[in-house]
Amino acid sequence: MERNLTCIICPRGCSLTVTVDGENTKVSGHGCPKGEKYGIDECVNPVRTVTSIIRVDNREDTMVSVKTADPIPKGMIFELMEIIRATKVSAPVYIGDVIIENVFGTSVIATKDIK
Ligand code: SF4
Repeated sequence: MERNLTCIICPRGCSLTVTVDGENTKVSGHGCPKGEKYGIDECVNPVRTVTSIIRVDNREDTMVSVKTADPIPKGMIFELMEIIRATKVSAPVYIGDVIIENVFGTSVIATKDIK
């Protein structure tokens, strides 16, 4: 299998070609080692940092922005979004507070203060 990708790690946006042949994965077109790693990860185990919002139950019409502390496997995003949708938090909330612990190997943290 061969895939053409654009590296999104830096603004240079190198065009990558990733060839997956069984256990062997080869990347070409990368301008640095980070791009090679990105190309391999994207084809073998793609991950994403998820950003969203969570309802604040003691403030009318208020949401707090959140994100995963680490990227999670792309295939887990919809399941995580269900968990996020079912979660409510009470103010005060501060940037960096853990809102959801131990979810898909990471946590969901606040990215905004709600005082
Ligand atoms: S391969 Fe390296 S230089 Fe090219 S876009 Fe990715 S991070 Fe930037």
